[in-house]
Amino acid sequence: MVKAVRVHAYGGPEALAYDDITVGAPGPGQARIRQAAVGLNYIDTYHRSGLYKLPSLPHALGVEGAGTVEAVGDGVTNVKPGDRICYGSLLGAYAETRIVPADRLLALPDGISEETAAGIMLKGMTARYLVRVTYPVKKGDTVLIHAAAGGVGLIACQWAKHLGATVIGTVGSDEKAALARAHGCDHAIVYTRENFVERVKDITGGRKLPVVYDAVGKDTWEGSLDCLAPRGMLVSFGNASGPVPPFSVLTLSQKGSLFLTRPTLAHYIATRAEYEETADDLFNVITSGAVKIEINQRYALKDVAQAHRDLEARKTTGSTVLIP
Ligand code: NDP
Repeated sequence: MVKAVRVHAYGGPEALAYDDITVGAPGPGQARIRQAAVGLNYIDTYHRSGLYKLPSLPHALGVEGAGTVEAVGDGVTNVKPGDRICYGSLLGAYAETRIVPADRLLALPDGISEETAAGIMLKGMTARYLVRVTYPVKKGDTVLIHAAAGGVGLIACQWAKHLGATVIGTVGSDEKAALARAHGCDHAIVYTRENFVERVKDITGGRKLPVVYDAVGKDTWEGSLDCLAPRGMLVSFGNASGPVPPFSVLTLSQKGSLFLTRPTLAHYIATRAEYEETADDLFNVITSGAVKIEINQRYALKDVAQAHRDLEARKTTGSTVLIP
C-alpha cells in the first residue's frame, strides 16, 4: 500500500482524501516511479472543485512531479530503474508511487533537483509556450503578465525579460510587487488598488500592448482587452478568479481587431518531439541562470488541503511543492 491524495466527490479542500492505494507492476509501455516531490498548481483546485472534470472518481490530483524510476514494463527503452526523472501535465501526481506512460517521462538533468523540477514542470513549460510559441515575445515588446508573483507568473516574467521585453506585471500586494520586480518585472501594478488599464496606458504613452497573458480570468477579462493595441492578442489561459463569462465576438472588432486564444499546455506538448523541445528549453533557461526558480512553500503531501487553502487565498508566491 502507498499513500495518495484523491477526490471521491468534487468540493472544497475537505474533498482531498489521504488514501491508501495499491500500485502494482507496470504494464507494457509503463514505468513505476517513486516521487521525491510533487508540484502544486492552480489547476489542481479546478480538478478538486469540478470546474475541470476528472476522467473518473475517485481520482488522484496533481499534474507534475519528479523522482526515480522503480520498475519498467515490456517494451520500455527510454528509462530504466534508478533513473532520475520528471514530468508535467500527467494527472494523478499526488502519490508516493505511481504508474505512468514511460514515454511521458523526461530525464532530469544534473544540476536540477527533484524538488525544483517538481515545482516547475507544468508552470515552466506553460511559461515557455506562452512567451515562445503562442505570442513569441520579441526584443522591444512591452507585455502584460497578470498574477506576476505566482507560479507561472514569476517564470514568465523572467523569460519575457530574457527575450528582451519590457515586462508589466499585476500583483495583489506590495510584497508581491517587490518579488515580481526582483524577477524581471519592470513595472509591478498592485491591481487590487490601482487601475491596471490606466497604468498600462501611462507606461506605454497611450500606445498600449501587443499581448496580454491573462490567467486571472473573470476579474481581469474586460481590462485585459482594453490594454491591447489594435490587432493585439489576448492569451486567456486560466481562471484563478473564476471563468471568463460568455461574450460577443463582435467585442474583438470593436476593441481593435483583436486576437483571442484560450490555450492549454497539453496541445503544445502533444508529441514527444514538442514535449522534449519545450522541456529542454526550460531546462536551458534554468541552468544558464536566465530564469531563477525559488520554491517558496513546502507542505507534506498529507497537508495538501492547507496548501489548497493558501493557494486559493492568494497567500503563496512562486512555486510550491508537496513532499510525499
Ligand atoms: P498562481 O501561483 O499564479 O496562483 C494564482 C494567483 O492568481 C494568486 O496567487 C493571485 O495572485 C491571482 N489571483 C487573482 N485573483 C484571484 C482570486 N480571486 N483568487 C485566487 N487567486 C487570484 O497559480 P499557478 O501558477 O499554478 O497558475 C496560474 C494560472 O495559470 C492559473 O489560472 C492556472 O489555471 C493557469 N495555468 C494555465 C495553464 C494552461 O496551459 N492553460 C497551465 C498552467 C497554469 P495575486 O494575489 O497577485 O493576484
